[in-house]
Amino acid sequence: MTSKKVNLSRRTHLKTSVKLFSFALLLSEVDIAWGAKILGVRIWPSEDYTRITLESDTPLPITQQILTNPDRLVVDVQGLELNPTLKDLVAKVKPNDPYVSQIRVGQFQPGIVRLVFDLKEPIKPQLFTLEPVGEYNFRMVFDLYPTTPPDPLMELVKSSAKKESALAKSNEEVDLIAQFATKKEKDAPKTPVAQAIPEIKDTPAPAKYKRLITIAIDPGHGGEDPGAIGALGSKEKNVVLSIAKRLKEKIEGEAYMRPYLTRDGDYFVPLHVRVQKARRVEADLFISIHADAFIEPRAKGASVFALSQMGASSSMARWMANKENASDLIGGINIKTQDRQVANLLLDMSTTAQIKDSMQVANSVLKQIGEFAALHKGKVEQASFAVLKAPDIPSILVETAFISNPQEEARLNDDGYQDRIAEAILRGIKEYFSKNPPVARRVSS
Ligand SMILES: [Zn+2]
Repeated sequence: MTSKKVNLSRRTHLKTSVKLFSFALLLSEVDIAWGAKILGVRIWPSEDYTRITLESDTPLPITQQILTNPDRLVVDVQGLELNPTLKDLVAKVKPNDPYVSQIRVGQFQPGIVRLVFDLKEPIKPQLFTLEPVGEYNFRMVFDLYPTTPPDPLMELVKSSAKKESALAKSNEEVDLIAQFATKKEKDAPKTPVAQAIPEIKDTPAPAKYKRLITIAIDPGHGGEDPGAIGALGSKEKNVVLSIAKRLKEKIEGEAYMRPYLTRDGDYFVPLHVRVQKARRVEADLFISIHADAFIEPRAKGASVFALSQMGASSSMARWMANKENASDLIGGINIKTQDRQVANLLLDMSTTAQIKDSMQVANSVLKQIGEFAALHKGKVEQASFAVLKAPDIPSILVETAFISNPQEEARLNDDGYQDRIAEAILRGIKEYFSKNPPVARRVSS
């Protein structure tokens, strides 16, 4: 009897839970159908990839299909009715978007919205959802990557080919002069330099190897990640991109350097991708550009950071590193990609040699900035910034001023200040390389 009773009650219990379960299912369906609201739609085109973000107050199931002839990506979002915010997406596609020619949005079925992305070329989509973080609610992210991604090294080599050959020629002139001086300085007629070049090419180059020094400039944040925001509304991502572009221009003006930007527009680049890009172009130096923020608006002054293996040099430095490392969370990365796991393994191989070199660059740059701007601290600080972890490239992070300080926010928007910061970084770089001339390429060329 007792056992039967138990069985019975267990059965009833089971039945109740099944009922409860289906009720819950029903409820959630109803909930989605009536409750889901699209809060914002954004599109971030770039050569790297185009990202489309739909922000909603509820996580919504999505399905995707790729169609060819013509190339299209079709995404169905369940639990949604068409609304004006969603329709806005159509008008947000820019004509110069590298991958999307247009977006069509329609009510496919009751409770299912269909988005059709008409593509300019075949793409590899990565669709994922993000939990609420910072100012954001739930986000559906559609990243459209080209099937053959652009190679930053090839592009850099192409764009700096003229400079590279000019530098090579000038090297050979130096070699020629040296040879003529020892061999036949007196009796040889003035040989045009150009004629003699092939001869020199056949003999192995002497140790005085010179080549273009590649400087990777890394403007922090971008796209979904605005970085810190000032009281006047300035966004760190815009200010630092502007400073980075100034630095790029200045480096372009140097005969023996070439710049490379890890991002050149308003789109998000994950931290590990910034490092990967710098390694891909075989950068001799990596400079990440940021603007500080602190809860206390009086905090002020520029800072320069290098990586720390041992822990942060101050609690403020640790705080900064945590804040900057949160960029991936706000910017939104697909944690399921294998690339990222591989990158993380690599990022743990930071070396003491890299840190030693980074400290030298950091000191030079800090000294130059200190010539005209307030410094937050009189010395280089160290913390565990993810973006500084290329094991083989000296890497520094410059916090150009506090955007959270109203006076400094105004300066950060000032052309003159932006230019002087860029100039100071350039001088710091030059000072470093004058003391540490770069060695031949890791890969012989
Ligand atoms: Zn930042």
